[in-house]
Amino acid sequence: MKAILALDQGTTSSRSIMFNHAGEIIAQAAEEFTQIFPQSGWVEHDPWEIYHTQLGTAATVIAASKLSPASDIAIGIANQRETTVVWNRATGKPIYNAIVWQDRRTSDYCNALKKRGLEGMVAEKTGLVLDAYFSASKVRWILENIPGAREDAQAGRLAFGTIDTWLLWNLTAGIVHCTDVSNASRTLLFNIHTGMWDDELLALFEIPAAMLPLVVETSGLVGITNCEGLPKGIQIAALAGDQQAALFGQACYAPGMAKNTYGTGCFMLMHTGEKPVTSNNHLLTTVAWSIDGVTHYALEGSVFIAGAAIQWLRDGLGIIGSAAEVEALAASVTDTGGIYFVPAFAGLGAPHWDQNARGIIVGITRGTTKAHLARAALESIAFQSAELVMAMRDDAGIPLTEIRVDGGATVNNLLMQFQADLVGKRVVRPKITETTALGAAYLAGLAVGFWQDQNEIAALWAKDRIFVPSDGRDEAYARLQGWLRAVDRARDWA
Ligand code: ADP
Repeated sequence: MKAILALDQGTTSSRSIMFNHAGEIIAQAAEEFTQIFPQSGWVEHDPWEIYHTQLGTAATVIAASKLSPASDIAIGIANQRETTVVWNRATGKPIYNAIVWQDRRTSDYCNALKKRGLEGMVAEKTGLVLDAYFSASKVRWILENIPGAREDAQAGRLAFGTIDTWLLWNLTAGIVHCTDVSNASRTLLFNIHTGMWDDELLALFEIPAAMLPLVVETSGLVGITNCEGLPKGIQIAALAGDQQAALFGQACYAPGMAKNTYGTGCFMLMHTGEKPVTSNNHLLTTVAWSIDGVTHYALEGSVFIAGAAIQWLRDGLGIIGSAAEVEALAASVTDTGGIYFVPAFAGLGAPHWDQNARGIIVGITRGTTKAHLARAALESIAFQSAELVMAMRDDAGIPLTEIRVDGGATVNNLLMQFQADLVGKRVVRPKITETTALGAAYLAGLAVGFWQDQNEIAALWAKDRIFVPSDGRDEAYARLQGWLRAVDRARDWA
């Protein structure tokens, strides 16, 4: 083997990246695809467009690398999670568009299950909350709404898959119907304690077991390419949900290690070891990965509006011309002049979990300027992430070692320094910030012996810059108290 090809199938684009033995990028390509919004709150993708954009970028990267595919490279897949496809096994055709994780069409159904008091049972088995976000209610919706689907599913004529499974099925010409534990753990159908699909959950969501993929380990040989449009015979050696892949790509292999991705929102995952940790703070418990018979777990929390708050300064208020300008504007003042900006545009996630919270700016005086607001917007990203860190520390009872960061907003040094100051831990930005793809590559490379073990990979992980907390824990604490008062004002508004 000379290189590993990572397929990073995301929510808005399909990317392919080839990594060499040093974990460096040698070729990459990306293609966006259509977001379909049939009704308010509904979000769909065309499964064929997902597949063909992924295939196209992979073919481009293979050609650019000038390697001999079948002998020189192996493939690892990371994918947008929870998004649901149901297809006919005989024809390979989807019976409906992919229903995307963001889609809210099954919210009422999930709320009705909650009213029946089922949330505790579901949470205990899956580590998740009973929500439309996850796959189960989406599969059920397809079976209920597409004529004949339920009978076909019961008769074993239909297959369900998350995006890893859909790609794998097509790459192997319909031979392999598998998913990995990290993806399975996001369906609401998988028992994270037994490591199996759960009969009680399948009965609850009225989903026939005959349509489910086989669950395999995250790192391991699962198939060989045998499709049009790609060289045949390439080993496919890893499947992983994108956030878990990023945790792996950041080499967070020991309990207490965490990564935070700063994009439109933030996704924070903390490795918690070989036993699942139950959250008392509305965090999710999820499988991180399973390798060599050992399953590792993580706590996960997300911030709904992070970089999106900076987009709002640009597009909603017009006080900056580009996201990059926010840093200089925020740095033109030494503090926020006492204002707090809680960007609860779409409610608040963990640990508050308040759907009715809305955005608020408090503490405004005659002296307040757009520079103060820019600074408060950046601080809000750090405050929200700090709250996730505190929740994880509480739940897991493991001290956080450091935060490894990635995502578009991590170029902002002021934000990274705020973050380090607030949590009192080092914030470390790696050289390679394509951590999702890197994680998929590492997982596949381990399976085919391209890399020997996690120690070898951990040694490849290289920092770009470390942000060390400056003195003044008292000041950080005081600012957090101010933030929490502001959050209180934002709650329960809509
Ligand atoms: P996603 O994958 O969610 O689309 P990205 O990782 O591409 O997000 O990051 C884009 C986000 O980062 C945008 O919301 C943007 O506002 C924010 N962003 C980009 N540059 C900066 C910057 N210099 N400072 C703060 N935020 C930034």
